[in-house]
Amino acid sequence: MAHTLREVPIMRELREAMEDHPEGEMQTSPEQVQLLGVLLKTMQARRVIEVGVFTGYSAMGMAMALPDDGVVVACDLDPQHMAVAQSWWDRGGVSDRIIPRVGPAAESLAAMIEAGEAGTYDFIYVDADKEGYPSYYEQGLELLRPGGLLTFDNMLRGGRVADPEVNDESTVATRELAAKLLEDDRVEYSLNPIGDGLAIAMLKHA
Ligand code: SAH
Ligand code: CA
Repeated sequence: MAHTLREVPIMRELREAMEDHPEGEMQTSPEQVQLLGVLLKTMQARRVIEVGVFTGYSAMGMAMALPDDGVVVACDLDPQHMAVAQSWWDRGGVSDRIIPRVGPAAESLAAMIEAGEAGTYDFIYVDADKEGYPSYYEQGLELLRPGGLLTFDNMLRGGRVADPEVNDESTVATRELAAKLLEDDRVEYSLNPIGDGLAIAMLKHA
């Protein structure tokens, strides 16, 4: 970490503030957020969706990797999480690039499709309830432009996906998504053992 991280002070402060938070382990690892930033810059991304905001660490990191007219549509179920996130985004000077959407993410994504935004997003980072991943997958593919990236966190679940004794709902849902990604010829696919496992799927060009 000492030899690879380029983390700005406000991001570090937010990360450290979550060390004592009861759900703080949900925060995306800093090296993974740095990777998301490199991907966004490589793609010259402007339009991003995040599903699963918590207190805003990954959304802020992605917002900082966008140009001034870039946007992150930040979706979370929990208004309290969103309020905390917004205070950090204000402090980090990225609030004008982040559009918060509170509610079940499947409903937020459906509303965005309904509003004519299909095919307009460059990048989607999914880091929320694992049972929702199948719908986020299909809705995400609809919202992406060809060549856009749909990414999913926690694909390894601390190794539990590989343990046949573990069959809770979230692990089973994650295995199902992994099987889907492997077979789906609409996407190019790579599973990366960074953080807790980051799946990257690129919507193929027609
Ligand atoms: N990316 C965040 C961590 C997200 S933790 C970071 O790096 O800090 C997962 C988040 O998903 C939680 O904030 C939780 O409120 C949210 N979540 C859970 N179920 C959801 C749903 N159905 N729709 C939207 N968000 C949901
Ligand atoms: Ca996660």
